[in-house]
Amino acid sequence: MTSVVVLNASFELLGIVPLRRAMTYLVRERAVIVESVPGASIRSAEADFPLPRVVQFREMVRVPYRFRAATWSRRGVLERDNRTCAYCGRSRVGTTVDHIMPASRLTRVEADTWLNTVAACLKCNGYKANRTPEEAGMPLLFQPREVTTRDTLLVAVTATGADVVALGLVA
Ligand SMILES: [Zn+2]
Repeated sequence: MTSVVVLNASFELLGIVPLRRAMTYLVRERAVIVESVPGASIRSAEADFPLPRVVQFREMVRVPYRFRAATWSRRGVLERDNRTCAYCGRSRVGTTVDHIMPASRLTRVEADTWLNTVAACLKCNGYKANRTPEEAGMPLLFQPREVTTRDTLLVAVTATGADVVALGLVA
């Protein structure tokens, strides 16, 4: 538990920093603790200090970078869709990646994009084959969305144990 989530004054997610860095923000009163680790504290001679899990800057800081589209990967598609088949809606069976517009009609670069791929079960993927959803009569049950570096960061934030829902970081 050595990573701390940092939010802007507006509650925007900024990133994750080592505990030591977060402590300097707190000691310099640049940030306040939004969420601490229950039952944990940092001991010093004078007093116990809550162990921060999420801190928030008191004043708006300029965001040094913008989130961008993450690099496409099969694993990323399956995780994004929670392995739910986009065609039959069954959960945990979407273990293959289907190209909505068949890959055979596109170049690799055009085919392997976040918006052209969804998780699908083996059965649906095999039945659809080299057809579009329209041609196969298999409407998508959900629309694919682009995965960004913010999603990647959110996975890391969740791993710190921070309550991403309570913090308003996910819808
Ligand atoms: Zn299916």
